This record gives sequence, C-alpha cells and structure tokens, in this order.
Amino acid sequence: MYRSHNCGALRATDINKTVTLSGWVQKSRDKGFIIWTDLRDRYGVTQLIFDTERTEAKVIELAKTLGREFVIQVTGKVIERESKNTKIPTGEIEVLVAQLEVLNEAKLPPFTIEDDTDGGEDIRMKYRYLDIRRNPVKESLIFRSKVANEVRNYLADQEFIEVETPYLIKSTPEGARDFVVPSRMNEGEFYALPQSPQTFKQLLMVGGMDKYFQIVKCFRDEDLRADRQPEFTQIDCEMAFVEQEDILNIFEGLTKHLLKKLHNFEIENFPRMTFDHAMKTYGNDKPDIRFGMEFGELNTVAQHKDFKVFNSAELVVGIAVPNGASYTRKEIDKLIDWVKRPQVGALGMVYVKCNEDGTFKSSVDKFYDQEDLKNWAAATGAKAGDLICVLSGSTNKVRAQLSALRMELAERLGLRKPNEFAPLWVIDFPLLELDEETGHYHAMHHPFTSPKPGQLELLDTDPGAVKANAYDLVLNGNEIGGGSIRIHDKEIQATMFKHLGFTPEEAETQFGFLMDAFQYGAPPHGGLAFGLDRLVAILGGQETIRDFIAFPKNNSGRDVMIDAPAALDNEQLSELNIKLDIQ
Ligand code: ASP
Repeated sequence: MYRSHNCGALRATDINKTVTLSGWVQKSRDKGFIIWTDLRDRYGVTQLIFDTERTEAKVIELAKTLGREFVIQVTGKVIERESKNTKIPTGEIEVLVAQLEVLNEAKLPPFTIEDDTDGGEDIRMKYRYLDIRRNPVKESLIFRSKVANEVRNYLADQEFIEVETPYLIKSTPEGARDFVVPSRMNEGEFYALPQSPQTFKQLLMVGGMDKYFQIVKCFRDEDLRADRQPEFTQIDCEMAFVEQEDILNIFEGLTKHLLKKLHNFEIENFPRMTFDHAMKTYGNDKPDIRFGMEFGELNTVAQHKDFKVFNSAELVVGIAVPNGASYTRKEIDKLIDWVKRPQVGALGMVYVKCNEDGTFKSSVDKFYDQEDLKNWAAATGAKAGDLICVLSGSTNKVRAQLSALRMELAERLGLRKPNEFAPLWVIDFPLLELDEETGHYHAMHHPFTSPKPGQLELLDTDPGAVKANAYDLVLNGNEIGGGSIRIHDKEIQATMFKHLGFTPEEAETQFGFLMDAFQYGAPPHGGLAFGLDRLVAILGGQETIRDFIAFPKNNSGRDVMIDAPAALDNEQLSELNIKLDIQ
C-alpha cells in the first residue's frame, strides 16, 4: 500500500495515528538536528518532520539526500505542530517520520514548482507535466473537470444522449480550413478532421435521437489569433421538434445551472438582444453588459454645424466615461494615442468634459456651443463629472473602434469584475455576410442555418437583409456558444447552397448525403455548441484558455513538449503515397 491518506487529508483529529503518505518533495529545510520536508500531491501539502532524537539515524541520513521533486513514501505518526500554519488545511499537524523510501529520484526541475514560478511560458510548456504539478494549473484542470461533470448532469437530467461522432470525415463548413489526414488504404484520398460534428448531429436528428450532446474535440486550421487553439473542445448539442425559443430556454437553464453549481451565483436577468441592437448600442455582437457606457449616436445633434470631420462621417457616436472629466490633458492625449494605434485604427477622438458645475469643455468648442454639448451629454447618458469620447467615420469601423475603447476603459476602471456574471442571448443574426474582398456572400453561421420564416424570398433581392434563426450565447463580453434552427427541407437547403455560390454538382458532392437524408423524414431541428475551453476559463474568472487545457499548443500551433508537427520519414511518406516537393 503506497498510502493510507493523501497529502491534503490529515487534521488535528488524526493526531497519534500511524499513517503512510506518498508524494513529491516540495522543499526540505535542514536545520541539522531537525529536517522539515513539505510533501505534496494533488490533494495538498503535508509537513514531514525528521529529528535526530526520535527518528533512526539511517532514515535521517536518507532524508538529507532528498532533492526537490523526489518521489517518496513515508510512514510515521501524526503529531501536533509546534508552530501552526493557518494558511493550509493540514497546518495543525505534521508527520514524525519513522520510515522513508525513495520511490524515484528527480532531476532538478527547470523552474520552481510553486504558485508563483520563475519559469517563463516557453519553458513551462516544454515541461508541461511539471507545470501541471503547480496549483494554478492543477486547479484549473480540476475546475474544468467539474464544469464538464455539471454539463453532463444537467443535460442527462434533460434526457440528452451523448453520442460519439467520427473524427475521420469529410469537410464541414464552419469557415476555417480543414486539417486533413491522408488515407493509406485509399491512395490519393484524404479525410478531413471535423471543424464540428455539425452534419452528423443533424443526421442523428434524422435518425430520431431527438436530444443529442457530445463533449467533443473540433479542429480548425486557422491563422492563430491570440487565445485560439487549433484543436478545441465543444459542448455540441442538437434537438428535434424545437423552435428557437425551446433551445434558448434549455441552454439558459444550463448556464444558470453552471453558475449556481460552480459559483453559487443566481442569474435573475437573462436578456435577449437583437444583433442590430447589440451593434448599435455596444458596437459589438458580444457585448459585455456588466457595465453601462452604452453608445449614444450623435449624428442628429453633431452634424450640420461647421465641423467638417463630423459632417462627412456616416456615423458620429460617443460614450460617457464615468468620472472621466478629471482626466488631465496628458491622460486624454494618451487615450487619443490609444485609439489611433493601428490595432484600433481611429483617425482621432473628440472629447467633452462634463464639468461638475454643469458646464462643458470640449476639444471642438470652436464649432459647438454649450447647448449642443448638452445634447451630446443627453444622447450618451453623460453625467456631471463624466468624459464623453466621440469617434466618427464609416459605421462598421467606428463601431468596432468605439467598442474597443469601451472595453479598454472598462478594464482600466475595474468594471469588468471576474466574479460577476452577465449572460445574454444575441438573436436575429443576419443570415449572410458580405466578404468585402471577394464581393461574395457567405453564411454568417453556417450553410445549414435557416432564414427567418417568410424571408427566403429576400435572398434574391436583398441578401444582406435576410435574418437567420441564429443565436449566440454571450457571457461577460465573450461569445461562449452559438447555434441555429436548421434547414430540414431538401429544396430550401439546395436554394441556400445556390445562394452561397455552390453549383448543384458541388453541393451534391460535398453535402449530397445530408440532402439525401432530408428526403427520408427529417424532423424540424436545431441546436448549438458551446466552446468548453473558453466557457471554463470565464467561469474560472480568467480570459486565457491555455491554463485550462492540459496540453495546449503555442501561438504557432506547435506542441513544444512533444515537438509536433514533425516531418515524416520517407518510408511512411511512401506508404501514404505522398511525394513532397519542398525545395
Ligand atoms: N456547429 C456550430 C459551430 O461549431 C454550432 C451549431 O450550429 O450547433 O459553431
């Protein structure tokens, strides 16, 4: 038996028990006649004591050789600690060691295995198994497991069935490139790894499974933006005989369940906001609604004076920054520099200080009088003491810029509190999105999403105006899930493919199997998928997903620990009938 207790278990009530513990040496303090060693495992840390009066000499000798991260087993008596440590649950006791066995020695780790480590990101990723021994990473992985369990509990209660779908498949269009796998047995042919199980879950509905879910890996070969992983995990769900409302209700329930179970946090408001409203009010389709600073459009009150910049703009829009009137000239200049950075891209920023005495002082006093500025304050909801920041330009750009400024200021002002949760649904998304470069429309969600009833005809005349039965779940300014009611009629699906620029032959080769299935009694259905990695990170009060993934890839999509991707040897290549043509 390696252990009678784990390293987090022993308390004052265990005093005088003889126990056996196994774990890793966190650190040892050798005072000559006494050695204290912190023994760590997944459950905690227990202090061991070896002393020359009470421990055999040969055990002391061995204890003196213990290095950091040695794996040891000890047997001894639980005794009361002289100086108690109130910071850890085992802090009242220590184990007076009688027997010690070194189960495995350890090389000196390349960084310290403590909460605040001296190891940089790269070295920690290379030795991820050591990083996982550290509390922050360990706790994150345990937390992830809890979230997944709670997801399963809730969905099982709602009679969802977990079904596994294949990984070696054909392309599914979620808008990224596929990762492909060559087939040895079918020369010259390739599988694609799923960007999502989308078509399979729809086929499960045709198969009558009714309520499906799966916690599943998905693969998307995208240029990696910060905090994206080429392989990631979805909570993928689909239901038959449902309307949008049914889906929103079930997954609102899941979100509340998770917040209650993991944070004892009760959600009272679960707003639904149209895409158009979100864009107008927050400049963003995933608004953080934990704080105000809503957009105030100023076209009617700021145009047609003598200020050319505003007159020629498609949109003039501002936000009120709480207590910003006290910013110094220098601070405001810094803010202007911030919005002018290439990542944000504004050409400039106009500001208005709303003084405590009810007067206004702006950077455009030449063009606007006090009455004008009062109207601006009314439109942006600015109060005495606030600062109004105003941007102008083409609608889409300006909204994105002001949204970036809103989030930045909220961050600086501490308004994005990690222990506060404000979920909402964003609904009524456009069905199609114009690709500015090619001039073509593509599906904003994916090609299986149904248009709103009665809007199919609009596809011919005003495709950009068609709204979809599509919805996103947003939490604290992050999109954590999205889905739609699907097309379940072969003809409509064919029309949709046509509008997306597929020839009938292309549609048939790529999705013939789905359209075939629709001819055999496909029920009305819909679903959604949550991104588990991000959901867990946000529920864990953080925004980076990496610590919640046991073995993540770096920004170039590499696993630096196992050194993948890697070249194949010639034998393997020829078995796969692949000839490389790399100079
Ligand atoms: N397959 C979609 C996605 O991965 C989710 C859905 O429509 O259910 O985003």
